[in-house]
Amino acid sequence: MENVGEVKNDIRGEETVEALAAENQKLRREQNMLRLLCETSNSAFIYYNYQEDRIETVANWDHFFDFTVAQIGDLAKLYERVEDQYVIPLKEGFFIEKQNRDRQTFEIKLKESGLCVEVEVNIVYDEQKRPTDKIIRFKDITRMMAQKDELTYMAYYDILTGLYNRNYFIRLLGEFLRRAETENCKVAVMFLDIDDFRRVNDGIGIIAGDDLVQLFGQYLTNLMNSNVIISHFSTDIYCIGIYDPCGARSVETIYQVIRDRLRQPFRMTDGQEVNMTVSVGVAEYPESATRTLELVNCAEIVMFKAKSRGKDAIQYFNSAILEDFLQTVTIQNKLKEVVFEQNFTMFFQPQCYAASGRLRGVEALIRWKDDQGDMISPAVFIPIAEKNGAIVPIGNWVIEKSVQIFAKWREKYAYPLVLSLNISAVQCKQNDFIDSILLILEQYGVPPEEIELEITETILVDDFEETKKRLSDLRKAGIRISLDDFGTGFSSLSYLKGLPIDTLKIDKSFVDTLLTDVNTKIITESIIYMVKRLGYETVAEGVETKEQFSYLQELSCDMIQGYYTGRPMPEEGIENLLKELTKKV
Ligand code: C2E
Ligand code: CA
Ligand code: CA
Repeated sequence: MENVGEVKNDIRGEETVEALAAENQKLRREQNMLRLLCETSNSAFIYYNYQEDRIETVANWDHFFDFTVAQIGDLAKLYERVEDQYVIPLKEGFFIEKQNRDRQTFEIKLKESGLCVEVEVNIVYDEQKRPTDKIIRFKDITRMMAQKDELTYMAYYDILTGLYNRNYFIRLLGEFLRRAETENCKVAVMFLDIDDFRRVNDGIGIIAGDDLVQLFGQYLTNLMNSNVIISHFSTDIYCIGIYDPCGARSVETIYQVIRDRLRQPFRMTDGQEVNMTVSVGVAEYPESATRTLELVNCAEIVMFKAKSRGKDAIQYFNSAILEDFLQTVTIQNKLKEVVFEQNFTMFFQPQCYAASGRLRGVEALIRWKDDQGDMISPAVFIPIAEKNGAIVPIGNWVIEKSVQIFAKWREKYAYPLVLSLNISAVQCKQNDFIDSILLILEQYGVPPEEIELEITETILVDDFEETKKRLSDLRKAGIRISLDDFGTGFSSLSYLKGLPIDTLKIDKSFVDTLLTDVNTKIITESIIYMVKRLGYETVAEGVETKEQFSYLQELSCDMIQGYYTGRPMPEEGIENLLKELTKKV
């Protein structure tokens, strides 16, 4: 029995040793892990035990501070290291046991190193609610803050000049308008365009051109305040929004201040001095327009007017400039021919097959000639014409004029082409739209199969079913339908299914970043793939380079339209092309 007992004891002894060894090993592992954690973390800790009144610093203390903490009183040294505004929060944060709290997190900034630090204080209490241990963690969040700042910055500002970017400006301007409505105030928009920027650029070189854009932009930042917002829209275009323009922030004063500055030259980084002038268009809420984008449009239109008056000038929006003209267009139906022929002209842009490079057709694009012969972009006046109804007679003129020219080409060159026409929602919704277009085609002897109407998704918004039916009717008559600007609206591929369309135009914004942005690449590839599976043809718009062209070719995109294969050109330009193409060898 004893033996048995001895044996048992022995076993127990061995068990204890083994258990102890295992315990030790576990402890060592934990210590190692702790050491590794401390070494690799970008944090430092202060540990304080109340009972022993013992304080210790752990992990990356040296990363943050150049002094040691040996007793609780040493914490005061920390107060000297942080920026002034953080001293009080730090004092309060360190001693949260005074408020019976067990946890608090706050941020501080260190004076010399400039580090942003997140401080987390944790206190452990015993059953009697007396504090026993305190742990303070210092975490370096400098990089995170910098990234956050940069992202916020990029979302709101133009990196080159420090002015607001276009999107954010439009948002702020919208807020001005809302406030102006309740406070019964005015809001002015000044649209600034550097005169002859291309010539300046050619003269001084592109780099100095960038300098000029930047220097002028930086100068403009000085004029910004809570009532004056300024944006750099694009290369040589700036836009100013003024809330309640009066006194020092009246349009006249701001214009004068800018002109005074422009009397002196700008000094470029390469030392050369450059003089420049600007043309300014001004529009005011609520007189000129009541909506943000329209207000900017109006200011842009009259800026063109300032240019045509000889530049270095300011032009106030005067409804006479635009509305009178658009009214004339709407009212004087009898004078139609004369009025339209005097003011508008049609340009045509080639569309080519991607695989062969062969000409497939042309898109008709309207141009407005002002009285000085300058061309005003349809991107500016079409939205206004859409709003006041002038788009209906303008659109009818576009159809008739383009079909007339197209018929002439057909007869003369007998080259198979498709004519693409842009159709606004308002226009398409007219009751007699289908009949009138078919009538024109009949008059000029053009088969409907050779016509393609470009519509945008906005057309489908109001009355999806009704519009779908109208598009189906057009297709039954033989006319092709193309969905323009795909990817800019709310469209999704699944929603496309079953839409009565033949072609889909992938918006320029995709093509722009196709070769530089992986996401765009993936999206474009899948759009082309899916769209082909749905049975539609694809056109890529705004193709400007050989690289973009080749890549889209690789993706089996059907057609290409853009400056690379041909800019929009007057009738004669296309005629010359057709002459070349049909030349007998
Ligand atoms: P859209 O239908 O998307 O027309 C394409 C626009 O992109 C045209 O501008 C064209 O000149 C431009 N573009 C073509 N290729 C390139 C390129 O490679 N690079 C760049 N940077 N731009 C390129 P445009 O002629 O100023 O027309 C602007 C918009 O005005 C058109 O956009 C269309 O929505 C509208 N529009 C033009 N003509 C008419 C019309 O007769 N009726 C209606 N309702 N809208 C029209
Ligand atoms: Ca178009
Ligand atoms: Ca388009």
